Amino acid sequence: MSGRCVIGVDLGGTKILAGLVDADGAIQKTAEHPTPTDSQDALLDALVRVVGELRTPDVEAVGFGIPARIDRRTGIAFGAVNVPIQEVPFRKVLEERLGLPVGAENDAGAAALAEFVHGAGRGAADLVLLTLGTGVGGGIVLDGRLYHGWAELGHMVIVEGGEPCQGSCHGHGHVESYCSGPAADRLAARVLGEGRTSFDLVEQKHPALDELGRHLGAAIGSIVNIFDPEIVVVGGGFGIAAGELLLGPAREMIRREALDPGGERVRVALAELGASAGLIGAGLVAFDVLG
Ligand SMILES: [Zn+2]
Repeated sequence: MSGRCVIGVDLGGTKILAGLVDADGAIQKTAEHPTPTDSQDALLDALVRVVGELRTPDVEAVGFGIPARIDRRTGIAFGAVNVPIQEVPFRKVLEERLGLPVGAENDAGAAALAEFVHGAGRGAADLVLLTLGTGVGGGIVLDGRLYHGWAELGHMVIVEGGEPCQGSCHGHGHVESYCSGPAADRLAARVLGEGRTSFDLVEQKHPALDELGRHLGAAIGSIVNIFDPEIVVVGGGFGIAAGELLLGPAREMIRREALDPGGERVRVALAELGASAGLIGAGLVAFDVLG
């Protein structure tokens, strides 16, 4: 291993994936544990433990990608839906317990940074990432820097008074109501019968996916109208699996809804780093702390 190294930790709803990451973004060694979901204390203990497993004297900082909103000024994490994190001063607590500089970002933000530096957005000036998984996450990189607002792109309204959103979100007609994996499962049950899933829709290249792709395209069209990004990257387990079955109809909608010339020139591509994006991104967050 050459030069500096850090530990990146991708905290998911079901597992904690941590890795020793070098300055080239290469993962040298990983550790994986189930995510404790019974209490915040148990979760924080598990994060400290996984860092301890990978730590070497060369490690200079630790970066976390967490499925929560983070107040950039205070480092307080809140608003997590799938993990027991409630208004904890995340960065400060972990810095004290680890004795190392700590950075923390929203998990989709970390993944956006990874795709920008090492994945589908290499060489682009700016990038927006949408992850279609259990929920719909978003990350925005503008002029080479991760945007530190919420970037909750999954909770944009695309259908006024539409389907109810998921989890703790009380809104309606949000991107997540239509384009998440569970939303695709509901669509599958409706068009193929009870018990059928998004996997069946993808396997059959079912035309119902066009509708889902158009919802995604409506969202991306609005994103283009706000940010005019060079590239929009679609990732997440369901997003990658459905791939062009969604991106084809999405591109038609983008051309319809986005102002000229943004809709014509924006590239819409699939994420390239797969399940490693969050981990690589958490490593970049750690390097960012070191400056
Ligand atoms: Zn919502």
